[in-house]
Amino acid sequence: MRGISRREFLQAGAQAGAAVAASGLWTHVSGKPESPPPSPLEQFDYADVFITSDLHEAQLRNTHAVLMALSDDSLLKPFREMSGMPAPGDDLGGWYHYDPDYDYRKNFGYGFSPGCNFGQWVSALARAYAITGDEATRLKVLRLNRLYAQTITAAFYEKNRFPAYTYDKLVLGLLDSHTYAHDPQALAIVEQTTDTALPHLPSHAVEHNTVWRTDKDPSDPSWTWDESYTMPENLFLAYQRGAGRRYYDLGIRYLDDGPWFDPLARNQNVLAGRHAYSYVNSLSSAMMAYLVAGSEKHLLAACNAFAMLEEQSYATGGWGPDEQLRAPGSDSLDASLTNTHHSFETPCGSYAHFKLTRYLLRVTRNAGYGDSMERTMYNTVLGVKPLQDNGQAFYYSDYNFNGKRVYKEDHWPCCSGTLPQVATDYRINTYFRAPQAVYMNLYVPSTLRWMENGAALSLTQQGGYPFDGDVTFTLTTTAPTELALHFRIPAWAEGASLAVNGVRQKEVAAPGQFTEVRREWKTGDRVELELPLKMRLEAIDARHSGTVALLRGPLALMAVKHQQDAPLPKLTREQLLGAQRLSQCQWQVTSPDGPVNLLPFTSLGDLPYTTYVKLTDS
Ligand SMILES: [Zn+2]
Repeated sequence: MRGISRREFLQAGAQAGAAVAASGLWTHVSGKPESPPPSPLEQFDYADVFITSDLHEAQLRNTHAVLMALSDDSLLKPFREMSGMPAPGDDLGGWYHYDPDYDYRKNFGYGFSPGCNFGQWVSALARAYAITGDEATRLKVLRLNRLYAQTITAAFYEKNRFPAYTYDKLVLGLLDSHTYAHDPQALAIVEQTTDTALPHLPSHAVEHNTVWRTDKDPSDPSWTWDESYTMPENLFLAYQRGAGRRYYDLGIRYLDDGPWFDPLARNQNVLAGRHAYSYVNSLSSAMMAYLVAGSEKHLLAACNAFAMLEEQSYATGGWGPDEQLRAPGSDSLDASLTNTHHSFETPCGSYAHFKLTRYLLRVTRNAGYGDSMERTMYNTVLGVKPLQDNGQAFYYSDYNFNGKRVYKEDHWPCCSGTLPQVATDYRINTYFRAPQAVYMNLYVPSTLRWMENGAALSLTQQGGYPFDGDVTFTLTTTAPTELALHFRIPAWAEGASLAVNGVRQKEVAAPGQFTEVRREWKTGDRVELELPLKMRLEAIDARHSGTVALLRGPLALMAVKHQQDAPLPKLTREQLLGAQRLSQCQWQVTSPDGPVNLLPFTSLGDLPYTTYVKLTDS
């Protein structure tokens, strides 16, 4: 979507009005103006996909093990303390700790958001159960939900700086417990949670930094940092999963229309200054308003906002330096390369990014959203440091010219809540389906198993992607089956080719689209996809064309420095583009000042690096 056509199209659509623009979206997809919108692509279940990529699986094993090792008493401790109950067991500390006298100006990282990750952790455990079938995981989910249900009191919400945030996450944890861990009491506990929380939430979406709790210290802005505008996504999900009509009505009520979705639907850029993660996350609420309530205005708002976000994204796919969205056309992204190390809130940001692009891809079938997912996955969250048992967590990716990979000082921050969810969700981001069709969205070594017309099929993808450009798919089926397989041809993949059983296909879709192979498939059929991984440079913005990142296919290659704060040898455009491969994941540039090694984010370890290079010949 860095290409112009989609943006121009959406702008034209916005001028013509929401309804017309949304139907224009379908025209764009199908090429047939009179055809009705295709129904959204469907997700597969967590258990349908088996991933064999070490990078992805290590993240799931790490986060799952950390969560399983947390004691129930420790997890319940802030809920019990805030509700005036006995609270035995170790205190997890960090953001999770409850301190009645908390003051962010004295010690920001201790007691900031007690209990805020609980729902995300229950959600991740329920999804991990769906993946692994591990009975101990399911039992932990059921046990935590019952213990939590005993603590539900108004006092928890009254004392909490983040009543809406915490409620939102609790609802999702319970919904995932219902759907994936088959907790028969989960929906009843959702209802109990909602009855208790609602009187302590604002009556409608309240913007970040807006005072709404008149009984709290007006000199303490931390009482205005809650995120009620992100709630509709999970409220609509609650309605969808059978919690009742009440949740549909609540979803509508908390949509942040006036200052946010309405201008976005008119293609008015109102991103500047907003808190990055939570406002991008709120776009998933807009997508659920479309999917559940049919609101084309909200679909348009999400499409437009995502295009605006891409214009202010780094080459890695990350966005929001210092957790702020920026004004269009400003120099702030370039300035961020020197004035901050807090470039992208990575686990939370990529969780929001994956959800949003998953919704958008399902609705529009536009392969550009898959490109964006892939870029963010390989260059950001897949390379974070593992979550530690003591709550140390990776938070910010660093795109400073003097970059380093470090843990956040604070323990158990928000990003320790989202990373376990990200790790489970690689499965549902990889493949999608429609009637008699499967979409290959992400190229990750894995096997998909599913039923089609009474036949049991499996599709296995293998290869060294994204370090090598070839991906091989082999298929098995219990009966020959007519089926369309759609392969994403990334926008950068000029000259992509595809062979079926060794026969090269004459027509492959243009880069930036899905290419379709429709035939009767039988066991042993094989598809070979070749995506040429040419080197290219992407400038930080149009006004700083000499400040560039080197990319090879979806991967940003970062320049390793001899030591922190040392200058990089001077490089020209030609030298950088001429980087030679030394090994599977390592490249090298030669220059008169000496060699520079280049590594993807997933291979950097603790080496100092820079994501962007200032060319000497621009
Ligand atoms: Zn976070």
